[in-house]
Formats: sequence, C-alpha cells, structure tokens
Amino acid sequence: MNARDSEIMAQFLRQAGHKECSSAAEADIILINTCSIRAKAEHKLISLLGALRPLKKEKPDIIIAVAGCVAQQYGAALREKMPIIDLIVGTQRIYQIAELLAAARRKPGLIAGTLDKSYQIPIFLPDAATRRRSGSVSRFVTIMQGCDNFCAYCVVPYTRGREVSRQLSDILEEVQALLDQGVAEITLLGQNVNSYGLTNSAGGRLCRFPELLRAVAALPGLRRLRFTTSHPKDLSDDLMRCFAELPNLCPHVHLPLQSGSDAVLKRMNRRYDRQDYLALVERLLQYRPDMALSTDIIVGFPGEDEADFAATMDMLERLRFDASFSFKYSDRPGTASANFPDKIDERIKGERLQVFQRRQDQISLERNRAYIGKRLEILLEQVDAVSCSGRTPSNHLTHINHLSARDIKPGDFVTVVITDAGQHALRGELAS
Ligand code: SAH
Ligand code: SF4
Repeated sequence: MNARDSEIMAQFLRQAGHKECSSAAEADIILINTCSIRAKAEHKLISLLGALRPLKKEKPDIIIAVAGCVAQQYGAALREKMPIIDLIVGTQRIYQIAELLAAARRKPGLIAGTLDKSYQIPIFLPDAATRRRSGSVSRFVTIMQGCDNFCAYCVVPYTRGREVSRQLSDILEEVQALLDQGVAEITLLGQNVNSYGLTNSAGGRLCRFPELLRAVAALPGLRRLRFTTSHPKDLSDDLMRCFAELPNLCPHVHLPLQSGSDAVLKRMNRRYDRQDYLALVERLLQYRPDMALSTDIIVGFPGEDEADFAATMDMLERLRFDASFSFKYSDRPGTASANFPDKIDERIKGERLQVFQRRQDQISLERNRAYIGKRLEILLEQVDAVSCSGRTPSNHLTHINHLSARDIKPGDFVTVVITDAGQHALRGELAS
C-alpha cells in the first residue's frame, strides 16, 4: 500500500513539473514516504533524517517532507524532534502533495495531518509518464483506505483512519485506464478487502467484494486479477467461489494467520480460531485445488509461551504455506497490546522467528520442487540480455534460462517448463 502511495505522489509531482534526480545532494525537494507497522520501519526514518541533517545545513532552501503513517502518527511531535522537516503529509493528504509542497516553500513547518471521517479516495488516473516508468505489466489499484478491525497489535486503524470504500465506478474507471495502457495484471488493494462495500461515509454506489471482483474480472483485456489482503474472519463462501468461476482470478490467496494458538488469537482480537482457519483453507482448495497460500505470522506476542509457539509451528506443518512473512512482535504506540503484560524477551522472539523461518524455508523449497517438470504460464516482468523473469498465476517468481532469439518483452505471456526450484523462486526453460 505504501509503494502504491509513493507511485501516486510521484505522478502528482511530475504533473506539477517536478523531475526526479538520482541523489539527495542534487535535490531541491526530498520526500520520504514512511511505514510505521513495526518499530523497525520507524527507526529507519529517524536515521535517514539524521543523515540528511548536514545537507540541510549546507542547503537551507532544500525542502524535506515526510509523508505516510509515521507522519500521520506523530505530526507536530515529529517536527519538534527533527526540526529539519519542512512538511508533514498525513495518509489522507497524499493526493494534494504538489499543492502542499508549494505551500511549504512559502511557510516551512506546514503540517497536513488530520484524518477526516468522511474522507473519499479521489479518482486517480495513470498518466503516460507513469506508464513509461513502470512498464505495462502489473499494477495496484486501491479499493479502500483504513481499517476498522483493531487487531490488538496493529497501528493501521490509527495511522490510516476508519475504513472507507472507494466508489465502484471510480475503481472500474481506473482499472480500465490501466488496461487501455496495456497493463495485463491488476492487484486490488485494501487492508481488509473482504469488507469492501460495507463502509463509505461519503456515499456513492458500492457493492460487496465478490461483486466488485466479478465486475473487474469482466473488463476486456484483463489477463490476471489478484487482491490483497483478506482477513480470515470475513472470507465468505461467495468470495471463495469466485476462484472457481473467474478464469482470470489467479489461484493465490494471502491469508494472514498471525498465530496458531487460539489463546493468542483471542488476545490479538483476530476473531477466528485454528479450526476456522483450517476450514477456510480446505474450502479454498475445494474450489481451486492448485491454490497457493501465503500468510503473515507474528512471533513473541505478549504472553506467548512455548505451547503457543508450538501451536504456530503445528499450523505451519498442517498448512505448509507456499510462503510467509514473519515478524517479531513490536509494541506500537496507541495499540491495545502495547499495554499488555508479559512482554517476551527480544532474544526469545529472535529464536522463535529463526525456528519458524528455517522450517518455512524448507517447506517452501519442498513445495517449489513439486513444480519441476510442470508447464506454467509466466507473465514476464523483467527481460534483459542475460536473464528474464516473471510470475506464475500462483505468484511464484520464475527465472527463465537461455533466452532464445525470440522477441520477448515485459508484459508478454510465455509457457515455461520448470527445471529447477529454490526456496524463493522457480527456474525454467521457454517451451517451444
Ligand atoms: N491488513 C493486513 C495486515 C497489514 S500489516 C491484515 O490484516 O492482514 C502487515 C503485517 O504486519 C500483519 O499481518 C502482521 O503480521 C504484521 N504486524 C502488524 N503489526 C505488527 C506489530 N505490532 N508487530 C509485529 N508485526 C506486526
Ligand atoms: Fe491491522 Fe488487523 Fe486491520 Fe490488518 S485487519 S490492518 S492487522 S487492524
């Protein structure tokens, strides 16, 4: 979602006549987009700002702007700590980035941060420059902002505000504009796409998420459709059925489990248990036997004991995810769990993370090796003189050997025979 926000700000800045340069030393404006999902992301911002201090001293006219979740969360307090910041741009204000930068030139210290309950995501159409920069292969489309779930550990409801769905017609128009530019794959983005359509304080035509998926899938020219992220508590049967019905909906679901322990899931306020999650995966596989599954895991949530962690490892053994993103729990300001007792020692968190990741790596390798010998359709993302790569419908990164003389380019679909597999990628040969 942050990557998408950065693209949007870059497009607005280009439209306002700004140009990108290749180093901070050449820049008149430095815009830093930030994430605050874990403490580590926030530390990165502080050290980057520290490194920029000498430059600001040397060139006092340079504008330093901070956007995104950290900007939203700390607002004025961030500027008090780091006075070199000239502009703070909250998560709902990125669409006004060009005007805000112009205003910050006149009045350094500007803070544009309030979250508005009746916020509406503006219509946003890609321009030709964006197309040239990013190629025409795979693009994100935001369908909603914010989150109302309040998982105990999560800062998103505070940094991105209440959940707001975008109007159906705006989404369809944006996807159509991308297809007209030759984009082949669209990923619909939201913190919890399954609750799309349930909230839009500003009105406009909405529908439930499966209906949105069907409408987008039907747009002529869309070869591949994906979405992320799904909350297990809201994954409806109607949505799962879409995987059987829509030929361009790719067989991959990212379904964050977070923990395999019912007691921890309860304290996390996730509102599903192990059995619910197992039943969902079983159902998904009934609709699409070739479904790939990835997840997010947090280790070391407050109070997580050895038995809780063993329950997470047990879910890994039962479900054998294709891939997972796993993290050490970190306290985030304002969240419920920041005040929970029984915080887990950093060393123990580190050990648990290593145990989980080692086993996941083995499983990913085993699962990837099962593709050897298969013929898969790859959407090419990167092609140069010596190598070429793309993704399978199941979202596996695939490197392709021995480019033949055939004229292939990013955005093409090719058939590849898989010849080898590692933990993180497949390897194959172009089929004749
Ligand atoms: N909306 C998505 C998740 C967005 S955050 C969803 O509900 O699935 C991405 C991931 O960051 C989460 O799934 C979680 O695994 C991790 N995460 C969030 N807050 C965290 C925290 N305080 N400490 C460690 N990991 C965290
Ligand atoms: Fe955070 Fe939970 Fe919302 Fe995901 S669903 S963004 S983890 S509060």
